[in-house]
This record gives sequence, C-alpha cells and structure tokens, in this order.
Amino acid sequence: MREAMASAVVGDDGHGEDPTVNELEERFAALVGKQAAIFLPSGVMGNQIAVRVLTQPGDVIVAGRNQHVVSFEMGASARNSSVQFALVNDSAGVLDLNDVLDVIDAEKDHQPHVSMVSVENTHMPSGGTPWDVNDLRSLAKAIGERPLHLDGARLFNAVVATGTSAAEFAEPATTVMACLSKGLCAPVGSLLAGPAPLMERARIERKRLGGAMRQAGFLAAAGLVALDTMIDRLSEDHLRARRIAELFSEAFPEARYDPTTCRTNIVAFDHPQARQIVGELNALGVEGDTLAPRRIRFVTHAGISDADVDFVAEVLESFKPAAS
Ligand SMILES: *Cc1c(COP(=O)(O)O)cnc(C)c1O
Repeated sequence: MREAMASAVVGDDGHGEDPTVNELEERFAALVGKQAAIFLPSGVMGNQIAVRVLTQPGDVIVAGRNQHVVSFEMGASARNSSVQFALVNDSAGVLDLNDVLDVIDAEKDHQPHVSMVSVENTHMPSGGTPWDVNDLRSLAKAIGERPLHLDGARLFNAVVATGTSAAEFAEPATTVMACLSKGLCAPVGSLLAGPAPLMERARIERKRLGGAMRQAGFLAAAGLVALDTMIDRLSEDHLRARRIAELFSEAFPEARYDPTTCRTNIVAFDHPQARQIVGELNALGVEGDTLAPRRIRFVTHAGISDADVDFVAEVLESFKPAAS
C-alpha cells in the first residue's frame, strides 16, 4: 500500500484532475452499481453529505437509535443540516418496517416531513450485524420515493459475511457510503456513491465542509489497493471475532451473550460492569472499549493474529467463574 502511495500519479482533485482519485471513484461506483462516487477524508463526512443533499432544514430522518449517524457524530446532522431524527429500535441491527412506516404515517398528524431513512450495514453497535438484502429491498419498497441512505462503513464485511454483492446491497439505497480505513486497512478515506446529479451536489457540499483535497491521489492509491486486496481477507477477521466472542461468552456467562450473533468483526455485548472489565482487560494487554456505559466492544482487524486470539483466551481464563 505504501509503495502504491509513493508511486501514485496525482493531479489537483479540486479540478477533478487527479487520475488516481478518478480511478478510485469510478471503481467504487461500479462496485456498488451507482452512476458516480466521490472520495472523502472520512465516513462521517460521507454521512453528513448524504444528509445535506437528501434533506431540508426541519426535516426528519428515520434511523436506528444506535446508528453512527445518530449517536457517534457529535450531533453533526443537527449542526450541519438542521434536521432531527425519529429514532426506532435497532437493538438487533435491522429496522422494523412497521416502525419506519409509523413515523412516515405520522406526517398526516401534523408531524414533521420525513425526508429520508438511514440504515447501517453492517450495523456496528448490535455486534456488526449484516442486513439480509431482502429486508433492505422490502424497506426501500415500503418507503417508496423517499431516499434511503446506506451507511456502509463496513459494507464489505457484510458482503463477505453474507455472499450478497456490494451492488445488490446498494441497489435498494439512493446513496451508499463505505470506509476504506477500517477493516480495509487504508490510512485515510471513505467514498459516497449515488445518482450522478446528486453526486455533483455532493461535491459542492464536500467543498463547503472543507473536504476537497488537492493531490489526494496519494490516498486514493492506498484505497485502490484496499479494494483490490483487503476485501477477501475480512473473512479471517470474522473467524477470529467469533472465536473471541465464544471466549467472552464463557468468561462472562452472566452476560448471556450469544456468540453466534457475532457474524463479522465486532464483539459487542451488555454487562453491568462493562467499564471495569474493559479497564482490567486493557491493563492486561487486551485492548477494547465501551460503546455505552454498560456495553463492551472488541474489534478484530488485520493487525490481530491467531496468536493474539490465543492470548485473549489466556487472559480471559482468570475471568472465568470457578468451576462448580
Ligand atoms: C466509522 C464509522 C463511520 C464514520 O467513519 P469515519 O471515517 O470514522 O468518519 C460511519 N458509520 C459507521 C457505521 C462507522 O462505523
């Protein structure tokens, strides 16, 4: 990846003249079956630009209450686009169609206009849960003309876990965002794809948010390597995460964590002593974090080997309840 960066052919992307950025945008658009894509410094910017181009101030976005765009972007949608969220349950990762339709139906009761629906695939806080593409299709069909934004920060984890292609997942959505800098190992970058006229407006919003870059081809070159070589590798992260999930469920039976819910690279479960447990594990060299006061999260990635999983097993031995 670093070699590809060093030898990248670059130009001024502010003028659309960086061939490596253009290649990455075209490659991603083709991969997700959309007319156009834009390269961005971060996934948050991708979500925020989607909100900017798909809403008007005062509108409502229907989203799961734990989604990144709701809970992990510092209120950016309110700050940048003057919109509010109608939150629905997403504790299992997917949105219930009837919950979404209820919010839309409430427009008839003088409630604000619902301009879009946002979903996350994989859904991180529930434990990296991939959507079933048929559920996404049903949702898109039910909301009709209203746009659907797919926060696919980990879209390729969903692809590898389900065998559904990126284009199949993206087809029901108006816009799709994916991150290159998580499991795909690029140092920087995300992409947003959608219909060409919308992506032209997205370019203006990117500029407004300070996300237009000049010789960004050095970063896009790493992104191309990521798309070429890092997608298939994700299945290794998934196997290791499942093994770690099993170890956690054995070490903390009181959490009633079902390790089979771990289908991608996120190990997440509730525990009343979450902060204390994470603190102790971090001190012992197993690094993770809490997602919420009582929710633990560990993530696997290219830097985690089988030997590291063995190390986790060793450390978790001392947390296991004494055999009766
Ligand atoms: C990480 C993440 C983002 C944001 O990506 P950044 O590159 O960190 O800004 C958006 N959505 C989800 C689901 C994420 O996990």
